[in-house]
Amino acid sequence: MNSSWLQKAIRYINKDTSEQNESPKLIVVVRILVLSMLFYIIINSIIYISILNNIGIAILLVSFLVFLGVFFLSYRVRTIGVVFTLSLCMAAWILVNIVYFGWNVGVQHFIIVLLILGFFSGYSQYTFKFFTAAVLCCFRIYLYFLCDSREPYISLPPSMNNTLQIINTIMIFWCISVIAYVFSKDSQALEGKLIDYNNQLQDQANTDALTGLYNRRKAMQYLEQILTPSNSTFTSICICDIDFFKKVNDNYGHDVGDIVLQNLADIMTTTLDKNILAARWGGEEFLLVFPGYNGDEAYNKLETLRSNIKSLQFKAKEQTFSITMTFGLAEYDFNSDIDTIIKEADEKLYMGKENGRDQIVF
Ligand code: GH3
Ligand code: MG
Ligand code: MG
Repeated sequence: MNSSWLQKAIRYINKDTSEQNESPKLIVVVRILVLSMLFYIIINSIIYISILNNIGIAILLVSFLVFLGVFFLSYRVRTIGVVFTLSLCMAAWILVNIVYFGWNVGVQHFIIVLLILGFFSGYSQYTFKFFTAAVLCCFRIYLYFLCDSREPYISLPPSMNNTLQIINTIMIFWCISVIAYVFSKDSQALEGKLIDYNNQLQDQANTDALTGLYNRRKAMQYLEQILTPSNSTFTSICICDIDFFKKVNDNYGHDVGDIVLQNLADIMTTTLDKNILAARWGGEEFLLVFPGYNGDEAYNKLETLRSNIKSLQFKAKEQTFSITMTFGLAEYDFNSDIDTIIKEADEKLYMGKENGRDQIVF
């Protein structure tokens, strides 16, 4: 029963306005602030009631009705209008309280709540926000001199002053915390999403969509990183190409060709060591980078890969077929540029094709 009332109340506070370009966070914050003010006025009434004269009671009653009005207004007009009305009402309320009860009860600190609300409201330009801040600053200074030059209407006993100081401090901290919580929660979540989205974009930019391997762009980046004169370890690179792949497409269709490419990518990553980079270099060409491997060591790895690829069986159109690949392998000479070593691997690949395919040329 209780929880259903609570849920209804939360839903009511969260109810969005139908206008476009409204910030649901802001209106929720405004409603919580107004409800807090209503609660605060009730508490104050209970504390003050014994010492208040008619004017004091009228101030509390009018304040209560005005904030109640702002609450219901939040369901009828645009958020910007509600924020503006609330700010004016709070400023007037601060002024009246200061005049009536004096500086010592600490109502002037509610100006900070207005300042923060102004900055988070998100509607206006920063120039307007800073202008509002300046106005609020002047307002606070004005209030100080106003209190300095005249006695409050009601002089509260020190114990009550202290009680109100405590209540006001709690209330101000509560209001600022509400604003900061609602807006920071959102921005933290957004920041997290942005980081995830950025990582996703980065992955997409580096990955070949069909095979899931790195693409040519990422492979080049990697080569630029490791093929530097300061790197004194061996590096071998290999360009490999599927033999007669056109026939696969012609005989079994492009979709089957795609499946072959995917399977090849899988067999490359499972056969080769984790530190060997496999990338899709072009249509049915792949680039393999062997960091820390001299040509002979890379050759041995490629020999295992070549035979694993050859023994793969594909099924399509009720037929079974297998494919082979030709590999051109080059060892980095610690001197040439990237294009030269790639060209060397490419030429060796071409030699392998000329020489009957299904082989490694080193
Ligand atoms: P070779 O042994 O000389 O390399 O013969 P080949 O048939 O493999 O060579 P060719 O360059 O004539 O054909 C390559 C084919 O690869 C042509 C192209 O349609 C196909 N291909 C390129 N990219 C893809 C792809 O993403 N999916 C599929 N299914 N086929 C592709
Ligand atoms: Mg080919
Ligand atoms: Mg080719």
